[in-house]
Amino acid sequence: MIQKTYDYIIIGGGIIGTSTAWQLQKRRPDRKILIIEKEEQFARHQTGHNSGVIHAGVYYQPGSLKARFCKRGVVETINFCRQQEIPYDRCGKLLVATDAGELERMHALYGRCRENGIVSELLDKEQLAEREPAVTGSGAIFVPETGIVDYKKVCTAMAHCFQELGDDVALGIRVRDIRENEQCVNLVTSCGSYSTKYLISCAGLMADRLVRLHGIEVDFQIIPFRGEYYRLPPHRNGLIRHLIYPIPDPYFPFLGVHLTRMIDGSITVGPNAVLGWKREGYGRFNLDLRDTGEMMVSTGFWKVLIAHFCSGLREMENSVWKRGYLKLVQKYCPQLVLHDLLPHPAGIRAQAVLSDGTLVQDFLFAESPRSLHVCHAPSPAATSAIPIGDYICDRIQEKHHDALL
Ligand SMILES: Cc1cc2nc3c(=O)[nH]c(=O)nc-3n(C[C@H](O)[C@H](O)[C@H](O)COP(=O)(O)OP(=O)(O)OC[C@H]3O[C@@H](n4cnc5c(N)ncnc54)[C@H](O)[C@@H]3O)c2cc1C
Repeated sequence: MIQKTYDYIIIGGGIIGTSTAWQLQKRRPDRKILIIEKEEQFARHQTGHNSGVIHAGVYYQPGSLKARFCKRGVVETINFCRQQEIPYDRCGKLLVATDAGELERMHALYGRCRENGIVSELLDKEQLAEREPAVTGSGAIFVPETGIVDYKKVCTAMAHCFQELGDDVALGIRVRDIRENEQCVNLVTSCGSYSTKYLISCAGLMADRLVRLHGIEVDFQIIPFRGEYYRLPPHRNGLIRHLIYPIPDPYFPFLGVHLTRMIDGSITVGPNAVLGWKREGYGRFNLDLRDTGEMMVSTGFWKVLIAHFCSGLREMENSVWKRGYLKLVQKYCPQLVLHDLLPHPAGIRAQAVLSDGTLVQDFLFAESPRSLHVCHAPSPAATSAIPIGDYICDRIQEKHHDALL
């Protein structure tokens, strides 16, 4: 069988893969580049199942990659949307404290906004009520830069920009094996074999499998965390003017159940964070024996389970008991009732966990002489996709000065 050869192959047609491919193509129009994606369309996994928020970068450790990428990402995502005529809305966000403990944490978070250079304003109870009559709280942080967009559209537009520059996309093809030698990296796929001088893997929920297939030693495993949503009925679409977030638990990497205005005019409630038993299974009772088996034999998984046992149980309880889920939102939006919570598709987060049980909070990369694997691209990676792609291009250029090609 004929082996197709490329200068660069990018695995993954999510927003990180397409952003990287497009930017690499802009920098090196003379190179042959291919995106391989196992689904028939782009953005079928995390990129197409998220809250659609263009995050301003409130929460992140100052100086971390997350903080740096997000700050640039918000500006570059909006510029890209303007150029491509993709609808977006800079509606702003409110982080609402509902009790004394949350109020204390809210002040700490406000300090972090300032450290990260995020435009923000503290609101007292009355100011909050004035801004959002349907929301109740003891105080809030107002972040005007936060926006909303459909990331599926952003990702597909990036893929089109890439293709317009003349390069190849192979949809519906799964990478099954990766072998590297001194001259190239060979890929065995569900549809023939490919060879590339350099490989970039952006495989999201499958990131650990791809890096291990390649034979690179790493100390992490992907644990899938389902993010379950509800949607409010259409007559509630005017309920809020901003996005409404709770004050997050600092020991947990997720942001808590929020009210999100979507770009199509609807409002979603969620997501929560419950353990998933199938990495790419969006139904509530999906189970995959390989995915579950791999978790069961991972020491990191058990350590996470023990460390977060109580909060994990609470999340599971609220996942099956709708009234419990509702209470999380009623804390700051008391007028919502049970029949306001309509079904909405879930998303699944690829959470990297180290063997010592650490839930990785920042971006994580692994490299070999001829490859770079994006091992962990957590939220707000959709917001940050353009700076991440740019960073990957810089890293390849710094490492090799393109001497390999
Ligand atoms: C519930 C939820 C809410 C979120 N909310 C936000 C938000 O509001 N704002 C924000 O900025 N971020 C948010 N995020 C995070 C953001 O969506 C992700 O970080 C981002 O989409 C990751 O993009 P990716 O390209 O790395 O992964 P993905 O979009 O998952 O893409 C990976 C791709 O790799 C492909 N692939 C895997 N294995 C193979 C193989 N063997 N061969 C070929 N192809 C393969 C997959 O099919 C997939 O298409 C959220 C995430 C979730 C799950």
